[in-house]
Amino acid sequence: MEQLPIFFQLKGKNVAVSGGGAPAARRAELALRAGARVSVFATHLSDDFRALLDDPHFRHETRAPSPGDMAGLALAFAATGDRTQDEAMAALAGAARVPVNVADTPELCDFIMPAIVDRDPLVIAISTGGASPIFARMIRARLESTIPAAYGRLVALVGSYRDRLGERLSDLSQRRRFWERALEGRVADRFLAGREDEARAELENALDAADDTALAKGEVYLVGAGPGDPDLLTFRALRLMQRADVVLYDRLLPPGILNLVRREAEHIYVGKEPDRHAVTQEEISAKLVQLAKEGKRVLRLKGGDPFMFGRGGEEIEALAAAGIPVQVVPGVTSAAGCAAYAGIPLTHRDHAQACVFVTGHARSGGGLSLGWEALVQPHQTVVIFMGLGQLESLMKQFVAHGGDPALPAAIVENGTRPNQRVVVGTVETIAGAAASEGIRGPALVILGTVVTLRDRLVSPGETARDDPGTFANAQVRESLLPPL
Ligand code: SAH
Repeated sequence: MEQLPIFFQLKGKNVAVSGGGAPAARRAELALRAGARVSVFATHLSDDFRALLDDPHFRHETRAPSPGDMAGLALAFAATGDRTQDEAMAALAGAARVPVNVADTPELCDFIMPAIVDRDPLVIAISTGGASPIFARMIRARLESTIPAAYGRLVALVGSYRDRLGERLSDLSQRRRFWERALEGRVADRFLAGREDEARAELENALDAADDTALAKGEVYLVGAGPGDPDLLTFRALRLMQRADVVLYDRLLPPGILNLVRREAEHIYVGKEPDRHAVTQEEISAKLVQLAKEGKRVLRLKGGDPFMFGRGGEEIEALAAAGIPVQVVPGVTSAAGCAAYAGIPLTHRDHAQACVFVTGHARSGGGLSLGWEALVQPHQTVVIFMGLGQLESLMKQFVAHGGDPALPAAIVENGTRPNQRVVVGTVETIAGAAASEGIRGPALVILGTVVTLRDRLVSPGETARDDPGTFANAQVRESLLPPL
């Protein structure tokens, strides 16, 4: 993060603003709204200050600020619009160790002013770290239009019941669960429909009925996180990720996805290195059972789809045997993600009427258990997961079993991620190409004449792109910001 977002307590504190125009007025107004006593230094105040003049906590000084004015300040703002005067204010504040914000001059700022959505007591602050205030304002506009004004009052209602619930439920995670149920259910529905009395009555009932044992039941969410691009998460995945008490994840989990899990959730890494199983599958399943029995909401995050070579089936068997409720959330498998973002359709009327998914991973202690006859059939696409390690031998066997050495082949590495790479060749050349390109994985191998279709979407020779999934000739993504 470029800066740390914090919310600053200004009630009863002193704040100085230099400048008499609209930017200064905006800063003075925000500080007043947060309960500060505000002194504005300016020879003249523009009309933007009109609404502030009668505020008992507002003071106007017609002179320039001096070192003595910095004593006891919580914050200082420079917004004169004049670089020399703003620098002077910043220097005064700096000498007195008062955090300062200089309008439109990020390099002189100790803190920046975020774009704000105010549904007091709910406040959302948005920053782009100074990179693009316009983008921040766009996002604010989106949030303004999607967060009902009543949310502020709903938050206040919740706040007014906090102490009572605290007496009723001792455990913090039980209290959180209580609120989640109330706020995802009828209480919020009624409140937002304008029936505040009914909502209050509903909340009273729920409060009377709340007890520790009913809320103590744990469960497991087996969630497919997709191949990498966080945009490919499902809404349901995101909702459950935001609800988890603890998350178990492994090495293949796309970077960036973990950041979307509820911040307070405990993180447990159960990574498996290829051929070196740090934590065995049995241990992972046992851990899931144990955590759920402790009453936790356990998130098991898997790359791609949990049932696609993800051993999700084994995990739910163990949970079912222990009587633990499980929700399985499908994810975009890397096969679908890589194909789409590399511009290779997996089936096509003229090329492939079938698509086979296989694992190229050798079972420990044994050879590959592939039915080669099924794989060398014409008019089909073969997608090989975990095939990079033995790509050369896999391709040799493919040919040995009657496969065409000239069949087009592609490798998609880090599919759907910003560092996606695509290497194209044939069954005969692809292993060599992967080695010389330094492909390390995770990578998916795609065999079939569908690979040639990529040329229609992507300019020849292109192996890396800034924005996987967006093609010059075919617009796959439509808008910059998806609807919230
Ligand atoms: N459940 C996952 C697959 C797990 S097996 C899914 O549905 O995608 C792990 C293998 O998936 C890797 O060895 C690799 O072959 C493939 N894989 C996963 N993510 C990938 C990605 N972003 N790009 C390319 N291949 C990927």
